[in-house]
Amino acid sequence: MTDYPNMLAPLDLGFTTLKNRVLMGSMHTGLEETGDWNRVAEFYADRARGGVALMVTGGIGPNLEGSVLPGAAMMTSEKEVEKHKIVTERVHEAGGKIAMQILHAGRYAYGPKCVAPSPVKSPISPFPPTELDEEGIEKQISDIINAATLAKEAGYDGVEVMGSEGYFINQFLVTHTNKRTDRWGGSYENRMRLPIEIVRRMRAAVGTDFIIIYRLSMIDLVPNGSTYDEVVQLAKEIEKAGATIINTGIGWHEARIPTIATSVPRAAFAWVTKKLMGQVSIPVITSNRINTPEVAEEVLSTGCADMVSMARPLLADPDFVAKAMDGHAARIAPCIACNQACLDHTFGGKLTSCLVNPRACHETELVIDSAETPKTVAVVGAGPAGLSAALTADARGHSVTLFDRADEVGGQLNIAKQVPGKEEFWGLVDWYREMLAASGVTLKLGTDVAADDLTGLDEVIVATGVTPRDPQIPGQDGDNVLTYIDVLGAKAPVGKRVAVLGAGGIGFDVSEFLAHEGTSPTEDLPAWMKEWGVSDPETHRGGLAPEGPQPHAAARDITLLQRKAEKHGKRLGKTTGWIHRAALKMKDVQFVGGVNYEKIDGDGLHVSFGEARETPQVIEADTVVLCTGQEPERSLADALAAKGITAHVIGGADVAAELDAKRAINQGTRLAASL
Ligand code: FAD
Ligand code: NAP
Ligand code: SF4
Repeated sequence: MTDYPNMLAPLDLGFTTLKNRVLMGSMHTGLEETGDWNRVAEFYADRARGGVALMVTGGIGPNLEGSVLPGAAMMTSEKEVEKHKIVTERVHEAGGKIAMQILHAGRYAYGPKCVAPSPVKSPISPFPPTELDEEGIEKQISDIINAATLAKEAGYDGVEVMGSEGYFINQFLVTHTNKRTDRWGGSYENRMRLPIEIVRRMRAAVGTDFIIIYRLSMIDLVPNGSTYDEVVQLAKEIEKAGATIINTGIGWHEARIPTIATSVPRAAFAWVTKKLMGQVSIPVITSNRINTPEVAEEVLSTGCADMVSMARPLLADPDFVAKAMDGHAARIAPCIACNQACLDHTFGGKLTSCLVNPRACHETELVIDSAETPKTVAVVGAGPAGLSAALTADARGHSVTLFDRADEVGGQLNIAKQVPGKEEFWGLVDWYREMLAASGVTLKLGTDVAADDLTGLDEVIVATGVTPRDPQIPGQDGDNVLTYIDVLGAKAPVGKRVAVLGAGGIGFDVSEFLAHEGTSPTEDLPAWMKEWGVSDPETHRGGLAPEGPQPHAAARDITLLQRKAEKHGKRLGKTTGWIHRAALKMKDVQFVGGVNYEKIDGDGLHVSFGEARETPQVIEADTVVLCTGQEPERSLADALAAKGITAHVIGGADVAAELDAKRAINQGTRLAASL
């Protein structure tokens, strides 16, 4: 008997059956654009082997004007069909099913040729779109149908029509972007003509035994978005037009409400999808922040949807479903929803990967095979760098001992997990603990390792992390001065008025921690919705609360300072930095930049501005918290070098600048894969 009877139940689609209720949602990985179709095939085949019922590819453009970027993958000709066949054949050999997503980006397309229902520029692209005429609309429809026909020829089990997230089809649906007065604009009947025409003509073109998933925006989260009645009306028409499944989308890309970041509660929008259940008779899929089998089962057993879509969790662990089936759910590498190696890479023009699993999208290049010669390996430091090195070395057959002076594994992840909105880090540390228990690694906690303890080994890996940087500010030894470790680790008492020095990732996190009191909104869905101004789309168009965001009052008066004159948080994650900035602004945290730190005394922090150290000012504060960066902890590495013992130095101990868990895990895994 499984713990996940709903998640693992098959789904009969009439002409074919899905083996369980897990769909891998579409992700733009950048793999198709590498031109290495073997690599693309291996990425999907790996996930097919891991048991997911149906996968949706990243968005494939139906033509040049609709492609997300110039050079992005398209499905327009027989030449492309041949490449995609490599993928579909490999997936089918692995026992999986795969649908190709057809993505027409409309005004979100990052190119001068972009088109839209009306010439309304999007806030997330510099290119104003050209308004389509009747002939232009007809061309878009026939290009989309052509892409579906070619997808069938390439061996796909179906297609997904991207009709949500503010892309082309969505742009026709709402008056916010559709100002037309012809038969494609004006009344809702006219505005929804495009998706209905697409699905109707597509079904006629591809026949009955081919999956058509329609991705429907359930809650736009933008001004003048669709009403609930409009969404239901469209869903019914899409069913009539011939769709097999409705996959629900949440929020336009330009929405100013986070929808998938780590601070969003798990399954935060499943209740929205539930509103569609019973309104249509085809299966309905829900998504967003579902990252464990428990959450998936809860969502399905409470009738929120017929299937769940998980995208990033399948980057973190391709064997998600297989491990749940085998009773090893605790061994599923958790997606912590950080976006650091997936969406931040995509938006930075880099190939997608995963912070937790550096093999994601690198399956053919980062191979973890059995070592030719098993060795004795000591790893010092059980932070993410040391943990990933130890587990990878063990997986390859080496005899590994992992040391840490602390009484628990995780290193700085144990500090990060204290921050409200970063609760997922608890699961990451738990996962490492579980994987160590299941491995052959000998774990020695509470053990301060010196160079003399590391003789006679084949390989020594130093992963001793970082120490806080000493900013050398006069008065920093006072009782009113703490480091981020005192605040987050030791939970030292902090006064009502606080100056936080250093506006890097840690300065932001410390400010977030100090602004909060009580339960984190990430663990309290109604509180989170209130904080961000999310409402029921049945009562408010687009799901936006008319009163806007209503955050709870900040627990302290906080000033967050940096020496640079640039915008606060400029170097935070590309897709999440705005959330951190907005969250602190909502709590009235004051951002002060371009300062010199003159001294700290009983009044607080004394600063001046500019090179001439002008306009002295006192930031009155009961407590000053230092978040002024980090330096490598190299005392062990230096001692080993002095004794002539060769060691590999990784993670923060190697380079502290711009260090994060992504780099630490990647470096640890790659080193161990090469030993
Ligand atoms: P560490 O995690 O520092 O681990 C080093 C370990 O070595 C420690 O456990 C230490 O006890 C042990 N050690 C040191 N010397 C010895 C010795 N001689 N003998 C035995 N043991 C020893 N990163 C992200 O990617 N995303 C985030 O959102 C994020 N948020 C963060 C929030 C906060 C508040 C903090 C503090 C950090 C955050 N980070 C984040 C950074 C991330 O945690 C670090 O980059 C990462 O932990 C560094 O990994 P590491 O293995 O090199 O070192
Ligand atoms: P950081 O991002 O490098 O920020 C350090 C801050 O200290 C900067 O704002 C810097 O700004 C200031 N500073 C540097 N040297 C100083 C000095 N000598 N005196 C006074 N101020 C000084 O490092 P961090 O905040 O310590 O974070 C460490 C790493 O953890 C980061 O690289 C980050 O990637 C990771 N992290 C990530 C996240 C995330 O959400 N992704 C969250 C937390 C941490 P000025 O020089 O302008 O003053
Ligand atoms: Fe999840 Fe972060 Fe990995 Fe992206 S990088 S898949 S958000 S854990």
